[in-house]
Amino acid sequence: MTFQKSLWFDPTMLFIGGEWRKPGNTDTIAVENPSTGEVIARIGRGTPADIDAAVAAAEAALEGDWGRTPAVERGRILMRMQQLVLQRAEELAFLESTDVGKPMKQARNDSVALARYLEFYAGAADKVHGTTIPYQEGFTVYTLREPHGVTAHIIPWNYPMQILGRSVSAALAMGNACVLKPAEDASLSSLAFAAIAAEAGLPAGALNVVTGLGSEVGQALAEHPGVHHLSFTGSVATGRRIQEAAARNVVPVTLELGGKSPHIVFDDVDLDAALPTLVGACMQAAGQTCSAASRVLVQRGIYDEVRRRMAEVYSTLEVGPAPDNRDLGPLVSKRQKQIVSSYIELGRQDLTVAAQGTIRGDAPAGGNYVAPTLFADVPPDHRLAQEEIFGPVQVLIPFGDEAEAIRIANGTEYGLVAGVWTRDGARQMRLARKLNVGQVFINNYGAGGGIELPFGGTGKSGHGREKGFEALYGFSRVKTVTASHG
Ligand code: NAD
Repeated sequence: MTFQKSLWFDPTMLFIGGEWRKPGNTDTIAVENPSTGEVIARIGRGTPADIDAAVAAAEAALEGDWGRTPAVERGRILMRMQQLVLQRAEELAFLESTDVGKPMKQARNDSVALARYLEFYAGAADKVHGTTIPYQEGFTVYTLREPHGVTAHIIPWNYPMQILGRSVSAALAMGNACVLKPAEDASLSSLAFAAIAAEAGLPAGALNVVTGLGSEVGQALAEHPGVHHLSFTGSVATGRRIQEAAARNVVPVTLELGGKSPHIVFDDVDLDAALPTLVGACMQAAGQTCSAASRVLVQRGIYDEVRRRMAEVYSTLEVGPAPDNRDLGPLVSKRQKQIVSSYIELGRQDLTVAAQGTIRGDAPAGGNYVAPTLFADVPPDHRLAQEEIFGPVQVLIPFGDEAEAIRIANGTEYGLVAGVWTRDGARQMRLARKLNVGQVFINNYGAGGGIELPFGGTGKSGHGREKGFEALYGFSRVKTVTASHG
């Protein structure tokens, strides 16, 4: 597979109203290969006028063919998209791997997950119903579950295929018309998805993709008065802006933001079973995962052993170019490498480095490589234990008893997911209730979990739920009809 073969569409074009259009701006944005630093393509730099056109196309779709498409047919179209994604799974994985630096084996998971989202929501499209409600004598009362209308989807660069999959396929299943704004660092798979939607026969305007800068087209989309629902995945800082824009237009918003998720390891853990996950749940996508388990809280009785054995795993970790399929690829951009490296430098000032992985000697000098780093004996209030680093960095934090573990686990401003490692069933149940997060994993860790599982945060990790059936409720609204018939 070559990069040119995986790029079977023109990435400088936008997808609006079922057609490929030139952006209003003749400037383009360079696409860098994070494994080498080379510019491999250019994407279009959309303008606010392009967002106006995309929202108008979505409105027209709702008034036209898409708005008249029955739920079962929406499901069939999504299923055709699923088939095409599977047919092109290898090309999509290659495209994503080259664009964001993910090892191919991880990028393949992303294209399969995109297909699975389409499959799940295709099957669900005609299974979300209203209800009839017993009311006063002489009345029939029922509810209709209706789409919001035009939905905006602003996504980050770390899992573009998975995040557009969970958000756009649920919105389409419920009959909304979508405007998707991918991240400037990772737009290629969103454009590929648009090409697949067109090939599958998705009516014009049901999905529109506008690439460009967050401060230009992202902001214009969030503020657009024609948008009826905002789904945002990204940083807390941008999420706040999105919520402000939603407040001005008084529209609902789903925010999937960052995290500082803990593994909580009690001294009755089955350590052999837990060990690969204790490390792997942070190394996936080189730590650039919102639900990365970046804090490892360990009970004192087993702390030294966990530290030693995690250090052994770290010593085997290799970082290399995405096509080489090592444990970790490069980070997405020079900027991200700089951010993560400065956290590692900060940690070196007053913390102990328990272990580091290795960057392969033949990794290209222009690539954004960072060695995975494990810090030991980290105070829970240290910046490295509080702030989202979004790279391959974990901190080990010792604790005494269950109450202290819960206090530390809940002691950041985030609350996305948590892993609990213990064989004590009663303790498992207590922790599942007391942890302020959106997902709890007991003796496992899914870094976001499966397609069927509602996902989202508490605190600064955001609000609203995507994935599973919950997303269908989020992407629709209830209308109550009362009929008086005597
Ligand atoms: P980001 O907030 O910088 O960018 C996300 C998206 O917002 C991009 O498409 C960007 O172009 C756009 N954007 C930027 N400024 C904007 C503005 N003013 N108005 C509208 N849109 C704008 O985030 P990022 O650096 O791309 O992603 C990393 C962050 O995403 C991390 O904090 C991570 O935890 C979070 N994330 C969360 C989840 C989740 O499901 N909870 C999943 C993946 C990533």
